[in-house]
Amino acid sequence: MPETAIVWFRRDLRTHDNEALAAAAEADRLLPVYCVAPRRTGDRSYGGPESFRYRKVGPHRARFRRESLAALRSRLRDAGSDLLIRRGRPAAVLPELAAAAGAETVAFHALPGPEERAISAETVAALRDAGRSTRRFWGRTLHHVADLPTPYTQIDDTFTPFKDRVEADVPIRATLSRPSVPPLPAADDPDVDPAALDPGDLPSVASIGGGDTAGSRDLDDPAADAAGPDDRGVHPFPGGEAAALDRLSAYLWEGDHLREYRETRNGLLGANYSSKFSPWLNEGCLSPRRVHEEVEAYERDRVANDSTYWLRFELRWRDFFQFQVLKHGRQFFAPGGLRRREDVDWRWDPTAFERWAAGETGIPFVDANMRELDATGYLSNRGRQNVASFLTNDLGIDWRRGAAHFETQLVDYDAASNYGNWAYIAGVGNDSRERAFDVLAQARTYDPDAAYVTHWLPELEGLSPEQAHAPWTLSADEQAAHGIELGTDYPRPMIDPTTSGDDPV
Ligand SMILES: Cc1cc2nc3c(=O)[nH]c(=O)nc-3n(C[C@H](O)[C@H](O)[C@H](O)COP(=O)(O)OP(=O)(O)OC[C@H]3O[C@@H](n4cnc5c(N)ncnc54)[C@H](O)[C@@H]3O)c2cc1C
Repeated sequence: MPETAIVWFRRDLRTHDNEALAAAAEADRLLPVYCVAPRRTGDRSYGGPESFRYRKVGPHRARFRRESLAALRSRLRDAGSDLLIRRGRPAAVLPELAAAAGAETVAFHALPGPEERAISAETVAALRDAGRSTRRFWGRTLHHVADLPTPYTQIDDTFTPFKDRVEADVPIRATLSRPSVPPLPAADDPDVDPAALDPGDLPSVASIGGGDTAGSRDLDDPAADAAGPDDRGVHPFPGGEAAALDRLSAYLWEGDHLREYRETRNGLLGANYSSKFSPWLNEGCLSPRRVHEEVEAYERDRVANDSTYWLRFELRWRDFFQFQVLKHGRQFFAPGGLRRREDVDWRWDPTAFERWAAGETGIPFVDANMRELDATGYLSNRGRQNVASFLTNDLGIDWRRGAAHFETQLVDYDAASNYGNWAYIAGVGNDSRERAFDVLAQARTYDPDAAYVTHWLPELEGLSPEQAHAPWTLSADEQAAHGIELGTDYPRPMIDPTTSGDDPV
């Protein structure tokens, strides 16, 4: 009797360097499965002290995930298999499918966040109760969790010593090649329920975003499934493994952009100031080890310099946050963060928060970034730092509210990178120094000709760069001359902008 296995895809939507797929592909028959569990992605409560409700997955990430699933399905179909898509909790879906298809074992990748770990634990228990075995793998980071110099529970809580140790002592494992994918169980096998082989429909953007709940304005729109990216954005790329590998090649080899990455990475406009790998890395369409191998090849063939080093450096920041969330679990998401700070009295002011979220603060550099985020789901690192600092340090609003808003909006949301960076900026992460940004000074430095703010705030076009960054300085006559009325065409600032960055928590 042939051995049958299931590979349970989660945030590892790729066939290259996928250890769970490679292991499961040793079976004679294989069912590749993805579970859509809307209950976990729709409108829900944050949890913990002073809980609040927010939407887990917004339209940008839902669209990117749908494209990534479509791409994976298409690749598996080309290999003679399929991606079976099921709705429901993996703990319910997988034992049922295993029984219907006669599968003995389920292979999957572990994820570091507490919610994902709870899902794995529940699923493993349900499969065990159903008499099925499981095989769990780690494939999320550049450095494998088992190769860390200490157990993850003992890793350093500050980045630099962590980075120095892994850089010096931990080799990066080679990528795994794409396995040849075994066929699905035979439809005429008397032991197989034919329903087990039903491929299932690709989920709509609405169902990925938990669109059965209220308030899903953008998701419920039937046009959402076909909607393309906003052409003002800097991340016009679709989801999926092939698009990720194309971008890797285009960024490094065709465009030769890696050569200058360290100088350009604080940019704001255009696709190539940074790699834009993040959404693919986070949905798992791209393996970080694959990026590393390509960078090594680039260093051999073109140039090894500060920029090539720096891309790996940033991937180690990503690793650091993955291992931090694994180590600290729920404390990572607590109001006082890893430092367990109790001296910060985070404010809750819904009106101020809404103005921030809508890009209506009256401070152009903040507003341009928030409008880019809303329209595209992507934001530069410089932009993220500034809007996060404005919300937490200038407005004093609970950092978790801002992080939850990013969770909804970001196309590249990842629990570890998002909450880790927010906590860092808000001064509650272990590695935080004073992270309050003077947003006006930042605007003048990083957007000296105001091209970025006028790109997203066309109402400020025609003003000099200084005026565009500080429109509140326009006299009544200047406003009339430029056809802009403050308070009508563009908001007055909600705080005194010259105090930004002065009063960190
Ligand atoms: C408040 C805030 C929230 C953030 N939320 C997220 C998030 O949810 N998901 C996410 O992937 N990144 C997040 N970042 C980190 C960073 O802004 C993005 O990774 C980066 O802008 C993605 O663009 P890129 O791929 O072109 O980056 P590049 O500059 O090309 O960097 C290459 C890769 O390195 C990693 N990386 C770079 N900077 C960081 C960083 N500071 N922390 C962790 N990894 C990093 C990413 O995987 C990125 O794709 C956040 C940063 C801040 C300040």
